[in-house]
Amino acid sequence: MAASVHLALEQLKMNGVRMTPQRHAILSFLMDTKSHPTADEIYKALSPAYPSMSVATIYNNLRLFVEAGLVRELTYGDDSSRFDADLSDHYHAICKGCGQIVDFGHPPLLEVEKVASKETGFMVQGHRMEIYGLCTTCNTITK
Ligand code: ZN
Ligand code: MN
Repeated sequence: MAASVHLALEQLKMNGVRMTPQRHAILSFLMDTKSHPTADEIYKALSPAYPSMSVATIYNNLRLFVEAGLVRELTYGDDSSRFDADLSDHYHAICKGCGQIVDFGHPPLLEVEKVASKETGFMVQGHRMEIYGLCTTCNTITK
C-alpha cells in the first residue's frame, strides 16, 4: 500500500497538484480500504484526526483524484457516488440489503464487447457490469 501511495503522489505532482496533509490522508484512507466509501463516510472516518476538514473539501479532493486518474468514481443507483482507489480490472457485487460493494476478480468481458460491436456497428469504448444480490450477512438475516 505504501508503494502505491508514493506512486499516486508522484502522479499528482505531475498533474501540478500540491500535496497537503489532508489530501494525503484522504488518498491513504481510500487506498487502505476495500469498502468503496462515499465522501460522507470518508469525512466521518477522518474528521476526528482532521477537525478542520469539511465534506466539501473531501468532495473537491476526490474530484481532483478522479481527474488525475488515481481514483474511480462509482455511480450505482441513486445513492451518492462511491470511490475506489483499486484501479485493477475487477467487477463489483452489490448487496441489495445493506448496500455494501464487494470486489471480485474476473477477466474483462471483452467477448461481450466484441459481440456488441459486431451486432450494433458501434465502436465500443467500454462497458459496466455489476452483480446484485444479498451479501452473506444479509442473506443469513433473511433466512
Ligand atoms: Zn448486505
Ligand atoms: Mn472495487
